[in-house]
Amino acid sequence: MPRSSSKTTEPLTTPVQFLKGVGPERAELVAKIGLKTVRDVLFYFPRSYEDLSHVTPIADLEEGVVVSLEGVVDEVDLRSRGIGKSVLGVLICSDEMYLRATWFNQPYLREKFQAGQRVLLSGKAKRRGLRWEMTHPKVQWLDDDESSPSGRVLPVYGLTEGVTQGRMRRLVQLAVEEFSQAVEEPLDPSFREQRNLLPIHEALQIIHSPPDLDALARARRRFIYQELLVLQLAVALRRRQTRVLRSSPQLPGSAEVHRRIRRLFQFELTADQDHVIHEIAQDMAGSVPMNRLLQGDVGSGKTVVAEYAMLIAVANGHQAVMMAPTDVLARQHARTLARDLAHSKVRIGLLTGSISAKERRETLASIAKGEVDLVVGTHAVINEQLAFDRLGLVVIDEQHKFGVRQRAALKDVALAPHSLVMTATPIPRTVSMTLFGDLDVSTIRVSPSGRQPVNTYVSADERRAQWWEFFRKKLREGRQGYVVAPLVDEVQDSEVGSVEQLFETLSNGELEAFRLDLLHGRMTSVEKEAAMQSFANGETQVLVATTVVEVGIDVPNATLMTIESGERFGLAALHQLRGRISRGSHPGFLCVFADPQSAESKTRLEAFSKTTDGFELAEVDFQMRGPGELFGTRQHGLPALLIADLQRDSDVLEEARRDAQDMLADHVDAADSALLLLLRKATALYGQALDLADVG
Ligand code: ADP
Ligand code: MG
Repeated sequence: MPRSSSKTTEPLTTPVQFLKGVGPERAELVAKIGLKTVRDVLFYFPRSYEDLSHVTPIADLEEGVVVSLEGVVDEVDLRSRGIGKSVLGVLICSDEMYLRATWFNQPYLREKFQAGQRVLLSGKAKRRGLRWEMTHPKVQWLDDDESSPSGRVLPVYGLTEGVTQGRMRRLVQLAVEEFSQAVEEPLDPSFREQRNLLPIHEALQIIHSPPDLDALARARRRFIYQELLVLQLAVALRRRQTRVLRSSPQLPGSAEVHRRIRRLFQFELTADQDHVIHEIAQDMAGSVPMNRLLQGDVGSGKTVVAEYAMLIAVANGHQAVMMAPTDVLARQHARTLARDLAHSKVRIGLLTGSISAKERRETLASIAKGEVDLVVGTHAVINEQLAFDRLGLVVIDEQHKFGVRQRAALKDVALAPHSLVMTATPIPRTVSMTLFGDLDVSTIRVSPSGRQPVNTYVSADERRAQWWEFFRKKLREGRQGYVVAPLVDEVQDSEVGSVEQLFETLSNGELEAFRLDLLHGRMTSVEKEAAMQSFANGETQVLVATTVVEVGIDVPNATLMTIESGERFGLAALHQLRGRISRGSHPGFLCVFADPQSAESKTRLEAFSKTTDGFELAEVDFQMRGPGELFGTRQHGLPALLIADLQRDSDVLEEARRDAQDMLADHVDAADSALLLLLRKATALYGQALDLADVG
């Protein structure tokens, strides 16, 4: 592809100091906030705006209405009224009328006002006798040579020491006046018209000095759109590259294969399970690598879907591997498979941290020789240089426990197997469109019927006696239960301390008549497995545990749960925990003892007790925390967005996504120059994080 433009000198790379009237000194100051070239300045968008389009003359003031007005300082007087008490009065003159602004106990403001200085005030005006007053208005001090801002919407920039707001405005204005025409326009006029987007020069001018709020909104939209379009192009490029550059074995399922697989299960599949299996089977039949995310609430029956997919691979003479985040869960999956496949020839291998070195060696050897069909393991499997004979499918259970990077690491284990990632933490749509944009998403919405709702109580300590009484009654009726203690501190051993202490207290107190056992992360795998086994077969009635039980554990008769120090748990963890007791034919009961200190933790617990819908809770979580913690762009190595916000701008995001896909589908080989410009921006910004090949 021809490389254009880059050889001609680029006016936008002009250093800031060569802007008229700037000079090296000021250039050095603004370099501290990343403004080195003219381009940096042009794209240094205001942090906020002051709306002065409705500046009011003093003659038109109204009692109690918030207004802005411009005037000149006439007189300043500061009166002390005893220790720490003072009144500062500033008389402002405008059109030969006067207003008095007053500040109580802020004597240091005195120095900021000089007679003759122009200021802009905003606040609520009040009439005092014949004169207007404002108490504690917001002030902007205007430079002498600054043109009157009234009637405009003023940009407010992030500043650095030694540079006033007025100077920053002027610096940006200079750059805009002299250079905005040099900014490349990556969108054609006809396309802009269809999408109702301003030309980039115009948008730049407006965003730095908007004539009014409507124009500002249009200018911002242009940049938001462009930023999201570039992001979506990067995502679409990645998707295209992974599909074109790799291929996978074709693993079709005949009617006979489907019939044989279905016969293995102890229940009828639900309509949703059938539907997602259909999507998966279609992907696996093709040579384009499947890259699918299966999301479904806790208990929605994802395991059987994975099992089904793995058996399609086996039916085609290929191997499949399933990764789980914990030893306990990997063993549970292995048990489920062994049970369902007891009468078949399918061979299962287990690889966890707890098997002996000898067993491991043997299992690895049989996997390499193709003597094992299905491998179940923890991510120890990832770290091994695991060699398969004919790997056709990789399943990753509980994706949120892995993180995106590990997913990528596993994919290099063998030559492009199909991949299925499962999660019970629903990914908000805005996030799945960006970070996980190269994944296809299948969703199980409705859980198998007969599933019981969990009655959830959030309680303070005074209800303890009553709760334990109820807990004991249900145990006597034959149910089982969990008591969960928080991870107090993973670094020190206090996690174990707190759960062991709880175990002691309960064994000698509220639950002394029952068979209790312990489960926590510091136990050996063998101990953990033994504890899980005796709980699963009913010997143990109550399991006192840390969040080890959070993920995936399936004991249908366990319908009771007590969570201690609930304020320490995140919403996703609470929801996962609750999922442990909604599995059988008896209703679940959960009591969360909590002492929420912050408003945020109150809201979280309230939302948790109000709904059991995991998708709804994920949205609440997302609203409260933003995408930052779980799915934040930065966490995954993507650069922060400058102006767009994935939540607020989700409609623009949808539009940009569709456009990015169309653009790539239509033009990529025709090397349309505007598109190339966008693609270069996309690879420059996101290439490294998304592992994109160069587009030239
Ligand atoms: P998750 O989606 O949380 O991984 P699981 O796959 O562990 O859920 O399924 C939860 C429980 O529901 C298991 O006991 C499983 O055997 C059962 N189950 C799954 N599908 C069905 C179905 N179609 N009908 C009845 N029970 C089902
Ligand atoms: Mg599961």
